[in-house]
Amino acid sequence: MKTFFDLFKRRPKKTQKNDPAMQMLLRSVAMTNEKELTCDEVFALLDQFAEMVKRGEDAAGFMPLVQKHLTMCPDCREEYETLLRILDGPAE
Ligand SMILES: [Zn+2]
Repeated sequence: MKTFFDLFKRRPKKTQKNDPAMQMLLRSVAMTNEKELTCDEVFALLDQFAEMVKRGEDAAGFMPLVQKHLTMCPDCREEYETLLRILDGPAE
């Protein structure tokens, strides 16, 4: 059975970093200290954030505003937790 989550998992992850739009977004987020992110902005970065966490990288240090938003926003936190579960692979 094909699910929404299968699509997520099969998405190539390496190429995503070379996406110019993503690069720009990451740069702007990394350089902005005071601004609060909207849910849309957090959502756009969330899979990268989750992957960094899974790789043991300093996701919170690299994207502090995402981290901060996740502590305040239950909606985005739920999405984030879903992503972590996807990255863990299928529960069998
Ligand atoms: Zn949010």
